[in-house]
Amino acid sequence: GGSLLIYDRIKETCRARGIDVCVELKHEPHGENIGLKASGCHGFCEMGPLLKIEPLGVLYIKVKLSDCDEIIERSIIGDEVIERLLYTQNGKAYQHQEEIPFYHKQTRIVLSNCGQTNAEDVLEYIAKGGYSALSKVLFEMNPESVCQTILESNLRGRGGGGFPAGRKWDQVRRQPEPVHYVVCNGDEGDPGAFMDRSIMEGDPHKMLEGMMIAGYAAGAREGFIYVRAEYPLAIRRLQTAIAKAEEWGLLGEDILGSKFSFTLHINRGAGAFVCGEGSALTASIEGSRGMPRVKPPRTVEQGLFGKPTVLNNVETFANVPLIIQNGADWYRSIGPEKSPGTKAFALTGNVNNTGLIEVPMGSTLREVIMDIGGGIKNGKKFKAVQIGGPSGGCLITSDLSISLDFDSLKKVGAMIGSGGLVVMDEDTCMVEVARFFMHFTQNESCGKCVPCREGTRRMLEILERIVAGEGTLEDLDMLEDLARMISDTALCGLGKTAASPVASTLKYFRDEYLAHVVDKR
Ligand code: SF4
Repeated sequence: GGSLLIYDRIKETCRARGIDVCVELKHEPHGENIGLKASGCHGFCEMGPLLKIEPLGVLYIKVKLSDCDEIIERSIIGDEVIERLLYTQNGKAYQHQEEIPFYHKQTRIVLSNCGQTNAEDVLEYIAKGGYSALSKVLFEMNPESVCQTILESNLRGRGGGGFPAGRKWDQVRRQPEPVHYVVCNGDEGDPGAFMDRSIMEGDPHKMLEGMMIAGYAAGAREGFIYVRAEYPLAIRRLQTAIAKAEEWGLLGEDILGSKFSFTLHINRGAGAFVCGEGSALTASIEGSRGMPRVKPPRTVEQGLFGKPTVLNNVETFANVPLIIQNGADWYRSIGPEKSPGTKAFALTGNVNNTGLIEVPMGSTLREVIMDIGGGIKNGKKFKAVQIGGPSGGCLITSDLSISLDFDSLKKVGAMIGSGGLVVMDEDTCMVEVARFFMHFTQNESCGKCVPCREGTRRMLEILERIVAGEGTLEDLDMLEDLARMISDTALCGLGKTAASPVASTLKYFRDEYLAHVVDKR
């Protein structure tokens, strides 16, 4: 009969407001029947810090330190709801999290535990069915059938490429070389993206379980998690999760009494965007400078330390236990046939409800921006959304009905990328947006190949000239020529897609470029 308070205290958006409600409440003289739980991110960043009261199921938003006394007295002891702390939309106050339009339109599978459980408690994860998928594969399936299940589910890599995960695992499984590895890419570097970080912070065991299942399926005994050092809480949570899993016999030698052994290591990345590229990432783990190499050989043949390697990102691995538990048919029943499942997006920019969301693949941009996102801030008009970060492109009003899945986006020259969505309103200067992303990419170019190293520098110079009102019509032609040349000749994905934001803004907003330039012809 006690009460439980679940806090969203770890998100930087909440901390950035200078509030740590959890610390304050810990000092409150509340009784034995009240428990405190610091959870992972609830996702509703715009309304943070969030506080959920169980068993009432009431969600409070924008909680201030000065609210703490009243919360204890009225919500916990008095069992009353504090109206002014409820989320309100169109005059309607919502008590329960799942009723709020921001959550109601989502399908939270991968993020189901984020914001609901204590990420540092392995028993909570187990109580929610955690590690039952691992147990199932170890005692009821062979590696081949695990690969086949993932293949049948049509799970596609969530890191951007959309390559079928099951095919990748099976290719590694079939390599004659005896030593295989599993690597998790947690080097989320897109500006505005924080999906993988939230999973690692809010539900690390789900990702670890996915990696172990991949290890069993692909014949690997060792896994590496590459996380950027700017994610200290994610690293701490992963370290705790690994230690707890080892303690409970879920990781290490003869897992759960089976003949399968698996160990996990954490590698901290120094924050280079290019290290999100597979071959640069494995080079970085090996202790070399993180630079991409020419392919082939592919990572599945010669990846980490020259051995066959399964390389997937955090969200991809986090899907795996659910597919094993519920079956490939269940997974394929969500979203379009060729891109099934859900996708987590970081919704940011000029939208009312910024935050971390998860929707079925095939949801439309309109549903995401207008329904879940609550429309554009300050009653302004929607202008564009940048999807896929610096490697992606922008989508405009006529694209609002487009289905968010790998194939539909590819058809219009955009990409899902890792899942960053930056929404822009009518006041946004699209030339400045292109300059921002080019500045980012140019800064992050590793310099190995000339087209990217020099081409992005020239493009940035031109964009800076145009933004300063000193560009010419010839500059626009030059931008287009350089964009084509870099995309055709750069060595890795970073270079090949570096010009995408410029190309797409030139395509849709050429008039804005023209308004900036001086006609010297
Ligand atoms: Fe490095 Fe750019 Fe070449 Fe990739 S394309 S290898 S980031 S210089």
